[in-house]
Amino acid sequence: MFNKILIANRGEIALRIVRACKEMGIETVVVHSTADANGMAVRMADESVCIGPPPARQSYLNIPAILTAASLTNADAIHPGIGFLSENEEFCRMVEEHGFTFIGPTPEHIAKMGDKAVAKETMRALGLPLIPGSPGVVKDADEGLKIAKDCGFPVLIKAVAGGGGKGMKVSHNEEDFKASFSMASNEAKAAFGNGDVYIEKYLSHPRHIEVQVIGDTHGNAVYLGERDCSVQRRHQKVIEEGPSPILTPEQRKYIGELAAGCIRKMRYRGVGTMEFLFEDGKFYFLEMNTRLQVEHSITEMITGVDLVREQIMVAAGQKLPFKQENVKFMGHAIECRINAEHPETFIPSPGKITRYHAPGGLGVRVDSALYDGYTVPSTYDSLVAKLIVHAKTREEAMMRMERALEECVIEGIQTNIPLHLRILQEPEFRAGQFNIHWLEKMLGGKQDENKKVAS
Ligand code: ADP
Repeated sequence: MFNKILIANRGEIALRIVRACKEMGIETVVVHSTADANGMAVRMADESVCIGPPPARQSYLNIPAILTAASLTNADAIHPGIGFLSENEEFCRMVEEHGFTFIGPTPEHIAKMGDKAVAKETMRALGLPLIPGSPGVVKDADEGLKIAKDCGFPVLIKAVAGGGGKGMKVSHNEEDFKASFSMASNEAKAAFGNGDVYIEKYLSHPRHIEVQVIGDTHGNAVYLGERDCSVQRRHQKVIEEGPSPILTPEQRKYIGELAAGCIRKMRYRGVGTMEFLFEDGKFYFLEMNTRLQVEHSITEMITGVDLVREQIMVAAGQKLPFKQENVKFMGHAIECRINAEHPETFIPSPGKITRYHAPGGLGVRVDSALYDGYTVPSTYDSLVAKLIVHAKTREEAMMRMERALEECVIEGIQTNIPLHLRILQEPEFRAGQFNIHWLEKMLGGKQDENKKVAS
């Protein structure tokens, strides 16, 4: 087992990893930018190293600085957290070449799943159903148009290197296709340095359902149930829950076994998420994330499995301590992502926290790096807290979430707590009847999809 782990991340996820390490008796080093010198994870870690100025490119994405910090502090392994370098093949390779263990999958698996067109082809070959569309990268707009006509409009033009809902454009008809195609490609080139795109049929009322999987280096692979992440804005998750209110036990078992079977065949090591769209009773593979997810806490609450702990254990070469038949699902969990943003305009709201009180009580979990007097920097993601509740039933979980949101005090900045409370009041949400487009419709009718995605 490792003696010391370096955490190359910030905010709540860096703190989440520090917490797991402490409980495992592993020492921690947190690297940080100058903007995060007073971060909670930095305070809680055994050691910290400042690796650069606020822009991520010069700090959290600065591979030589991170490797130097790992050498200087004698770390054995590096945990990349979420975002930043967590799905960067080159980083993973360099970490291992320098004699550290990367807490995550192999660079080959990261590369394969990081290119969405290659990921889809890999999963098709392993037996997963795909959304109709191009078999791989589309070379130009003419070829794209032919494929779009074959699968029928509307279609979605997506960046192979895409992530976080970026680099996607909807095309509704032949007339707007070429403009949407070049917009998607240009945006992808600017955001990811790779303008390659592929095409999918744009599904009109799917749910986003993802399966948590974990594999070890001894050939074991299990699934830990699903999370329903259909409450989205601009293709980004706002509320997640598990289990999905609409899956039957048979559908859960079917997709879980299929997902676990794929990673077993791939000999995948680490935690991962297989994302699917689910429409009219059918699953369609979307992508695989080869890392921990923000919403992993949902799975932890309904299975009792500490995913970060298990992730560290399998990275250290240990066998998974449970088999599929030992995984039991208990009750219902909901997570609200609390962002530092205006609840109606969604304009980011960084600044100093003048008063903070976290909710508590039975079945309430808050994963956050906030504290009284902390200043939320403007440079990074606006997620400041994850509020997770667990209860016996979905109905009880919703009541508990409302109660916990009302208890939560975050002053000095604006947050989207009022939006969460509003969603929880909606009869369709309460009935579990929503799809990936529902929240945006609730927020004010159908605007032009491309405007929303582009802005
Ligand atoms: P990213 O990696 O940027 O998050 P994904 O491929 O995972 O991109 O898709 C993100 C979200 O975009 C999905 O959860 C869904 O809401 C929407 N989406 C993606 N593909 C389609 C599609 N073919 N039809 C309709 N919506 C889609």
